[in-house]
Amino acid sequence: MTVRVRFAPSPTGQPHIGNIRTVVFNWLFARQHGGQFIIRVEDTDRTRYVPDAVNVIFNSLHWLGLDWDEGPDVGGPYGPYVQSERLPLYREKALELLDKGWAYRCNCPPERLERIREEQRARGDMIMYDGHCRDLPPDAISPDEPHVIRLKMPREGQTVVHDLLKGDVVFENSGIDDQVLLKSDGFPTYHLAVVVDDYLMQITHIIRGDDWLSSAPKHVTLYRAFGWELPEFAHVPLVLGADGKKLGKRHGAISVAEFEKQGYLPEALFNFLALVGWAPGEGEEQEIFTREELIQRFDLKRVNPAPAVFSYDKLDWMNGVYIRKLDQETLLERLIPFWQDAGMIPTPVTAEALAQLQVIVPLVQERLKTLKDVVPLTDFIFTDIPTPAPEKLIGPKMTAEQSLQTLEAVRARLAALRDWDAATMEPLLRQLCQDLGLKAGQVFGLIRTATTGKEVAPPLFGCLEALGRQTTLLRLRRAEDALEAVIQAQKG
Ligand code: GLU
Repeated sequence: MTVRVRFAPSPTGQPHIGNIRTVVFNWLFARQHGGQFIIRVEDTDRTRYVPDAVNVIFNSLHWLGLDWDEGPDVGGPYGPYVQSERLPLYREKALELLDKGWAYRCNCPPERLERIREEQRARGDMIMYDGHCRDLPPDAISPDEPHVIRLKMPREGQTVVHDLLKGDVVFENSGIDDQVLLKSDGFPTYHLAVVVDDYLMQITHIIRGDDWLSSAPKHVTLYRAFGWELPEFAHVPLVLGADGKKLGKRHGAISVAEFEKQGYLPEALFNFLALVGWAPGEGEEQEIFTREELIQRFDLKRVNPAPAVFSYDKLDWMNGVYIRKLDQETLLERLIPFWQDAGMIPTPVTAEALAQLQVIVPLVQERLKTLKDVVPLTDFIFTDIPTPAPEKLIGPKMTAEQSLQTLEAVRARLAALRDWDAATMEPLLRQLCQDLGLKAGQVFGLIRTATTGKEVAPPLFGCLEALGRQTTLLRLRRAEDALEAVIQAQKG
């Protein structure tokens, strides 16, 4: 049997990262079995339809490196892959169920339905259709008058959903509604369309979020009603925030586009998502996996049935690992858009800026958790800094005069340099420390504050090289002036 799995998004906006995690599971499962991964757009709820959402979904998947074998854009033998283009099919299937006695027409007006619901609410009963039209003679409602078609759910007995992760989940039929299958506007509901399409598209494994488990008995009943063989079901746990609540905006980014904007690497996010709710084995320490390793090792049956927690800290750590693994040329290319977005470098990048960036990349690579971190880390290189407050310019165990003299000496030595590069500066300034009888920490700290305005910055000499001769000397000069002013004021 060829494995065929699907992602069936409703185009209602940005896909939630929890759903994308489930897509990753589907994709890994398909690739592992040499099967097919299919995308089907479920757009039958026109009230929630967002026009560009399909493209957003496609872009998110492309960005993560997920490809599909059949879908609205690539076609395939079971198309069309957009439900609104398959309406006659659902009607035909709904009529088939009418013929078989598994469905019935219902023309209860909305006001009546609302009244029943209110009464049920008041009594504390389950909210469900009361079966008013269920046993009317077949021709009591004309096909030409406005009506819906409902599933004739058995009233007695139980429906068992066999789930690969949860085992047999038993539902009492008396608690399952006579679900509307076809609406009065001719559109199917999700329940009819999903079953018809999963069957016609020969889906073998339905791997989807836990939140659909309660719908599964209706689906199982529909398969039975049609006389179709059941697919396998795997309802994977939801993704929660650290507080145990469903992952939402207040926890952090929740759409792929946001993760991209915040500077996460697609390969890191992919690796991370594969491990949200799944782990390769007991006591297994490895967390960084190549795509191929994940394809090989993923095991649907080992998906943890308990809700999975999305740890932003772990993602940050993992993203940092992936950033450090990049070669510098690639890292440079990936950082450029972040510098550009922050207005730090021109678009397109000039040769001059590029040379400067090439110096910066090795300085920051070890320090980045996200690509966006590069902005605050290197802002002092691209934009002028305010002259630091004089008290920040006095070195530890040093006087203002001593600090001033030190900066002057540093500036004099640097000004005399022929080649402005980190490798030449370092021995030169270490020698200066010795000459002045000061510790490297004292002197370098002063230079760092004077030239970067920060107490913590990327490696100093690389920073000076990236800043360039003119800017470095100018900032040193300004720092000296600030100290000078304080000294004069003290004297005066
Ligand atoms: N269209 C449904 C959704 O929006 C698909 C549910 C399923 O996978 O059956 O999530």
